[in-house]
Amino acid sequence: MKVLIDNGHGENTPGKRSPDGRLREWEYTRRIAGMVIIGLRNKGIDAERIVKEMVDIPLSVRCRRANTIYRETGGNAILVSIHCNAAGSGSDWLSAHGWSVFVSNNASVNSKSLAVCLGETAIKKDVFVRQPMPGQLFWMQNLAICRDTVCPAILTENFFQDNKEDVEYLLSDEGKLMVTQIHVDGIIDYLKKNKR
Ligand SMILES: [Zn+2]
Repeated sequence: MKVLIDNGHGENTPGKRSPDGRLREWEYTRRIAGMVIIGLRNKGIDAERIVKEMVDIPLSVRCRRANTIYRETGGNAILVSIHCNAAGSGSDWLSAHGWSVFVSNNASVNSKSLAVCLGETAIKKDVFVRQPMPGQLFWMQNLAICRDTVCPAILTENFFQDNKEDVEYLLSDEGKLMVTQIHVDGIIDYLKKNKR
């Protein structure tokens, strides 16, 4: 099984930062992606980033890369796209906060199962998980990176880059470790449940 990690956006993406400019989503998610890869490899799991460039790679290209690897592995890959949430345009501090996980509207059973594994992991770690309704851990949205990839695919929104407390947490060592571990432990849980 190969774990594909997608880090959202690039250095040329406009906006996508905290109002004080201390957190830039493209930079932060690349750092977390790197830590997740190391964490998975340390557990003997094959993992790689599908975007190694610093610039923004179009979604269509990212989907094509993931689908090529999925075919090469004989249908043995999953994809996790890592982001930070925002309630506004990034010019003001707002109050929305917490962690959430998304699948596409056309999500497979396996995509939903992967999302649940990460959501349950976050809850176990006492993280506030935003839910669309009680009893459902994942949100459904029309997301190209999940919709146009053939492998099980989810997207995580790791706290809000326009919430002051969330940004403090995200930038702390504790926060970076937590975001990393939600991914590493959640993915491992999914792989255990879906051994093949
Ligand atoms: Zn994003």
